[in-house]
Amino acid sequence: MSKELIRLADCCMAFDGELVLDHINLYFNDSEFLTLLGPSGCGKTTTLRIIGGFLTPTSGEVLFDGARINDIPPNLRQVNTVFQRYALFPHLNVFENVAFGLRIPKASGTGRKKVRVPEEEIRSRVLEMLEVVSLKGFERRRITELSGGQQQRVAIARALVNRPKVLLLDEPLGALDLRLRKDMQSELKRIQQQLGITFIYVTHDQEEALAMSDTIVVMDQGRIQQIGTPEDIYNEPKNAFVADFIGESNILDGVMHEDYVVEFFNRKFKCLDKGFSPMESVDVVIRPEDIDIVPQEKGQLRGTVTSVTFKGVHYDTIVDFKGFKWLIQTTDYHPEGETIGIVLNPDDIHIMRKSQYSGMFGDYSSYSEEYEEIGGFEGAEEPEAGHEE
Ligand code: ATP
Repeated sequence: MSKELIRLADCCMAFDGELVLDHINLYFNDSEFLTLLGPSGCGKTTTLRIIGGFLTPTSGEVLFDGARINDIPPNLRQVNTVFQRYALFPHLNVFENVAFGLRIPKASGTGRKKVRVPEEEIRSRVLEMLEVVSLKGFERRRITELSGGQQQRVAIARALVNRPKVLLLDEPLGALDLRLRKDMQSELKRIQQQLGITFIYVTHDQEEALAMSDTIVVMDQGRIQQIGTPEDIYNEPKNAFVADFIGESNILDGVMHEDYVVEFFNRKFKCLDKGFSPMESVDVVIRPEDIDIVPQEKGQLRGTVTSVTFKGVHYDTIVDFKGFKWLIQTTDYHPEGETIGIVLNPDDIHIMRKSQYSGMFGDYSSYSEEYEEIGGFEGAEEPEAGHEE
């Protein structure tokens, strides 16, 4: 059973009277890889800086192992930070960069005497950490003789050598190219698992978050939108913002008739959702990869392909359903101009309560507004195998 290590209890942060964190309630478990994910400016770094002790929340409490630490300075917290610009010392070699934190004398238990880590212990701890980050044998290398990825590993070793209970990582891979970033993602996950400490990771890259995290916290405008495992967040987004931010989605307006029955495009479809008020307006989210393309006469809906882009593994196929454009990802090629049918299974249809984000999306969801204007999916090609009741 994992144990709670850090808790943010009702934390708010305001800069010049402007609220940038709005009543954040969040806990972080021991040995967990947790990612704060959200668009630029949503408050991720501010949250991280509060945990690190670089900022004090305007209101609310920061608890570590149950004790209030609002007023404890960063150097006395069992937390270290790795920044995107890793700020290594160019005049010191790899060994000395990692050893740096260990060479600073620390106050003893009574606070009266300064204690130094013995040289032999420094040596063994630095070598152990270089091995953890796969830089064994690089001790004497100059920082300028390392690649970006290797420099990032040195920064991680330096942050870990003090044996913090929590490592904060603020977009640490942002400066690396795509290939290196992917390698470092699995390296970071391996290091976290090997050492069994808590990593709190900040990114705006949803793929990165899905690949590495045990838990993802999706934030927007200073608020938590959803907390869950990568699978939860991807498969069961709580609102249209999360659905749109995590992966691509077709989002449209619908009405929930009763449990398990939703109407959109003037038709009823079976779904797996319940607990809505009768005739409640909802957001209907359909993932592009969940839509099955079938011969037009077998489809519940019929549309015309307006563009096709090869993406390596699949084709991004844009299909026009009487003026509403959907993105469909399929491994089969359907050329521009072809009329196709689609089938939506109940578990492909995700129903969400209406949120403030409705109607704020890009191309693939703009149809939801147009839909109301033209008064429905007029003449929707009627189904044979359908969910219509
Ligand atoms: P990014 O991904 O771009 O780094 P973020 O999600 O980490 O964004 P924050 O850096 O936490 O966002 O910023 C949240 C909001 O707080 C932004 O509107 C930012 O301009 C504001 N902000 C952050 N630090 C300060 C500060 N010291 N003074 C004033 N405003 C600030």
